[in-house]
Amino acid sequence: MVIKRVLVTGGAGYIGSHTCIELLKEGYEVICADNFTNSSTVALQRVEQIAGRPIPTYTVDFCSKEQVKRLFELEKIDATIHFAGHKAVGESIEKPLMYYENNLVSLMNLCEALGRTKAKNIVFSSSATVYGFSESLPLTEETPTSAHNAYGRTKLYIEEILRDLAASHPGWNISILRYFNPVGAHSSGLIGEDPNGIPNNLMPYISQVAVGRLEKLRVFGSDYDTPDGTGVRDFIHVVDLARGHVAALRKLRENPGYMIHNLGTGKGCSVLELVRAFERINKVRVPYELVGRRPGDVAENYADTSKAKKELGWEATHTIEDMVRDTWRWQTRNPHGYKKIQDRLPAVMFKPINPAYLPKENMRFIVPSGQPRQQEVPHPPANR
Ligand code: UDP
Repeated sequence: MVIKRVLVTGGAGYIGSHTCIELLKEGYEVICADNFTNSSTVALQRVEQIAGRPIPTYTVDFCSKEQVKRLFELEKIDATIHFAGHKAVGESIEKPLMYYENNLVSLMNLCEALGRTKAKNIVFSSSATVYGFSESLPLTEETPTSAHNAYGRTKLYIEEILRDLAASHPGWNISILRYFNPVGAHSSGLIGEDPNGIPNNLMPYISQVAVGRLEKLRVFGSDYDTPDGTGVRDFIHVVDLARGHVAALRKLRENPGYMIHNLGTGKGCSVLELVRAFERINKVRVPYELVGRRPGDVAENYADTSKAKKELGWEATHTIEDMVRDTWRWQTRNPHGYKKIQDRLPAVMFKPINPAYLPKENMRFIVPSGQPRQQEVPHPPANR
């Protein structure tokens, strides 16, 4: 099976944008689809700048069956990497229905469209959150799974939906990638993580404290049964993670059916170790205070990465020092993320709404049925 043209849903997001670069580097053609609710077109412009190639881009609401169908009519796709989805644990606890609807409906719409093609090849971004409160470390792909919030449950349910799908027809090839804690940024400093509002995750919080956007880090829990009492996680550089997707895509050519792999480094690093590495490598101060545990946190988790190494020929190569250095380069060059450069796009956009907004040259808009057709391709299609 030849895989050449890859659809990346959520391609403007943090992991999606880094994956686009690695795919282009490996000679794949990339088609990006995003709804831009939690991402910026600037990220894609930067990806094009780094890769030196245009990326045909669609604004698509994956919860709209019509729009997804239309996308697959417009583009011939050999495989899909599905990043698009809501990802904030806290928000999922407050708005479970929004999470179930968005993450599950979009996955099903995508699979339905894929099912009509010969390219039933999908890489899905799952998470180590599916290991729940497991205490047996390291976490292997065989470790029992469980979920403790709506976000985690959407990941688990999707894994199961995809398992059923793989069993339903031999044409399906599905790769589930369970990410540990992605951090870092591209070494160019052009793309990186740009969370909305106050970050929930540790690394963007540290770097926003260091750059002066936030006053101090609160370290959640210093009485865990870990070497320094703070939580231990398996931080993985986002470029390693992106390369893991390329490795999974390569494996799909062998018609593996259904497969699950952990993407981590296999090494635990504590919250305070990360803070100290950040200060030492970047020569900045990160003021912090020790506070109580955050509900729902486990003391420690890290991956067994041997399966990905053996089956995908992939392993992480970046160190904690690389992670903190690249994060800081991105943060100092873009202290306000992508926001300064361009306002974010509205939730679902069928045509440019703000006349001052200049879309990417090759951006196209999927139109719901019944809308005038000339809105659909307001810009010349990218060279292909
Ligand atoms: N953490 C912290 N302060 C913060 C954010 C996170 O001490 O502002 C800790 C958190 O308690 C956990 C680790 O950093 O031990 C990683 O948290 P993160 O939210 O980045 O990822 P998680 O592993 O929870 O998905």
